[in-house]
Amino acid sequence: MKLYNTITGEKEEVTPLDGKTLKIYVCGPTVYNLIHIGNARTLVVFDTLRRYLKYRGQDVFYVQNFTDVDDKIIRKANATGQTASEVAEAAIADYFIDAESLNIIKADVHPKVTETMDEIISVVQSLVDSGHAYVNSTGVYFKVDSFRNYGSLSKMPLEALRDNAGGRIPDGEEKNDPMDFAVWKTAKPGEPMWDSPFGAGRPGWHIECSAMARRYIGETLDIHGGGADLIFPHHENECAQSECANGKPLARMWVHSAMLFINNEKMAKSKGNFKLVREIAEEYGGAAIRFMLLSANYRSQMNFNCDVMDAAKNSLKRISGSVAALAALDSETDSGDIRPEVAETARVAKSVFIDAMDDDLNTANGLAAIFDLVRQANTLLSDKLSASERALLKDTLLELTGVLGLDVTTTDEIPSEITLLADKRAEARQSRNFALADTLKKEILDKGFTLEDTKQGTIIKKK
Ligand code: AMP
Ligand code: ZN
Repeated sequence: MKLYNTITGEKEEVTPLDGKTLKIYVCGPTVYNLIHIGNARTLVVFDTLRRYLKYRGQDVFYVQNFTDVDDKIIRKANATGQTASEVAEAAIADYFIDAESLNIIKADVHPKVTETMDEIISVVQSLVDSGHAYVNSTGVYFKVDSFRNYGSLSKMPLEALRDNAGGRIPDGEEKNDPMDFAVWKTAKPGEPMWDSPFGAGRPGWHIECSAMARRYIGETLDIHGGGADLIFPHHENECAQSECANGKPLARMWVHSAMLFINNEKMAKSKGNFKLVREIAEEYGGAAIRFMLLSANYRSQMNFNCDVMDAAKNSLKRISGSVAALAALDSETDSGDIRPEVAETARVAKSVFIDAMDDDLNTANGLAAIFDLVRQANTLLSDKLSASERALLKDTLLELTGVLGLDVTTTDEIPSEITLLADKRAEARQSRNFALADTLKKEILDKGFTLEDTKQGTIIKKK
């Protein structure tokens, strides 16, 4: 599989450095409130990358952190009378609820800053010892001009970055160069703090990820991922600190997913233009959000609106309708041989899907391969398909959608075959033929649906 590496600007073959396990670190959310569907885009893209690599037989070790020490968490804690850790823990619990609705698999490790403080202090110490960072009464600062490759990730020379930054030094910081950044911030009243050789305080954001990556993966990551908004300054600074502390580049590949926009503006908490995963999932379901996010290539910006959600929901229904039709007819015909043309349909769909995903995780083309299969399955269904043929087509659909993390086994539409059986059962009951009614009920159950008899009539549900 090839992925676009931001640092080289090329699509490169994905290989594990150790020849066995591919080690991925993804910058996770800052935990102070519910995640929005922009955050979800980055999380779903990397979850899909992980699923796909595993599908192709690649062992993956996947780390996604929680930033649980941050100005925004502290502000919320002070505003609500909670501790910072109470704010963070509640947001982490909420994160897992939303991640589950998006079918995001838990990372192998979800490190937290508060649990990695020793490693953070040790990275800061080595930067100070090697002259890459300096200490003053306001904190410890990384000296950007001590790293000659500074700017290589964002493809901007230090001078250009300096011009863009405008030379402002934030209140309370004392820096030799406005481009230098805090790796340790001296304690202020009302803020959480940890003891360190540089005085009590808390880490800066960038150093947290450098330390969590080193602690849970090691000095070299195979892939460092995150949203494209993090390239500068967050990832540029991670690169600089880690390489200066460890003597080698932090990551072999840097992979960035493009931003989700709304009304042609980046969706962001700070802009107040965000839609929460929780609210959109309530209306459309988590699978439709996931589908919508995967319907564009991860490196293209995408714009969110209700139309894209309606389209995603309909597309998902088309796939699940086809799966249900292939499954529902199961017991009607004999099992039998698989004709070469049916085997070929399944084989081609799979191979087109793999080619698309191998080419820089092209989920849009991967979905197109799935839809081709749906179309052909529907056409073939109007012929007589043997049970083995139906099973092959259904299993191929389930396999490919499963790689994308899309659940297409539930549909709120009850297939007409089931409603027909339910009608027959109702007639049998009316004519007091209870033996037949029971047989029909069992048949419906066997096809994966339940019946609930109420005063208003019989409700059919998917098991
Ligand atoms: P944050 O909680 O802001 O640190 O963001 C958590 C993750 O979501 C990071 O990887 C960000 O790059 C990503 N992210 C934030 N906003 C968006 C957006 N509008 N579109 C895509 N990814 C985003
Ligand atoms: Zn990070």
